Order: sequence, then structure tokens, then C-alpha cells
Amino acid sequence: MGIIRRMMDVLAVPDARLGASDVTRRWGMRRADGRIGWPGITAVEGDRAARGCDRCASSAFDNALVCIELGVVLSDGAGPYLVDVDGTLVLVLAQHPALSACHLAMSQYDDGHFRVGVVRDCAMNGWWRWEGFRDISADDQIVALDACHDLVTHQELITWAESPGSDVG
Ligand SMILES: [Zn+2]
Repeated sequence: MGIIRRMMDVLAVPDARLGASDVTRRWGMRRADGRIGWPGITAVEGDRAARGCDRCASSAFDNALVCIELGVVLSDGAGPYLVDVDGTLVLVLAQHPALSACHLAMSQYDDGHFRVGVVRDCAMNGWWRWEGFRDISADDQIVALDACHDLVTHQELITWAESPGSDVG
């Protein structure tokens, strides 16, 4: 039997937002700096994700997302659902047409904004990560999704993510 290396501890988060309607979703993980992240995962999802992701570790997991299993029927090509570090639900919408191995994604409405951007499956213990995103108001949702869809290179993605407002207004 090998020893499973754990990078994070799984712990109960009784007030996780996703846990309000689903009592199995009242878990999260303690980050290296002591903060609690990804509230709303299940204990099973946590047990897997707590083993960490080498590709996300360098950025302190700020942009890391945990893939979760929601019993929700999705339209063709959409999914899976992800939980971000703050416990906000993110839906993978579709494969990105140009950026290799990337997907378009959008968060649920939270604190006055949506997060729209590009995510990538780390293929490691259920982790995904944001490659680039913007936080936008409900009015700008379609414009931002279109702009994100039209990005062709990773450099364009970085530029888009770092210049909020350039195509939204
Ligand atoms: Zn990762």
C-alpha cells in the first residue's frame, strides 16, 4: 500500500453556500496559509482533491477549481460543474474553439458579478484552474462571453483578462 500524500486537510464547513440545499456539500479544505477554501464540496470530492495538484500549487491555489458531481441535467456539451476557492459554483460551458485543451466557463451570479473566462482540466485529483477571467456585471455577460469565445492565443487571453473594460461598455 502506498502512502497518499495530502497537501490539504478536509474539514467541515457547516455554512457552505452549496450546503444550504444539500447536506453532503458542507466540506472544504484548509489551504497552506490556513484559510479555508472550496466550501461546498463533498467529503468524497475533498478526499480526492486534498491530494493536491502540482500545476496549481505554485499559485497558492487561488485560481484552482474543484470538479464536483451535481445531479443536474446539462445541455449538450456543457459541464462539469466546478467550485472555486470562495465556494462559488462555476459551469463549464463548452470547449474553447481555438485555445487548445481549454473550455469556456462562467460562474453563478455572486456579489454583484459573474466571472467569465477560460478554464483547463488539470487532469489531477479532480482539479481544474482558471487560465484567465474577468468579473463582469449581468449587463455585460453576453459581450464578455463573445469576446472570450473569439480569443485565439493564450497571449490574447492574458491581455483580455488583464484589461477589464476594453470590450465591455
Ligand atoms: Zn491544477
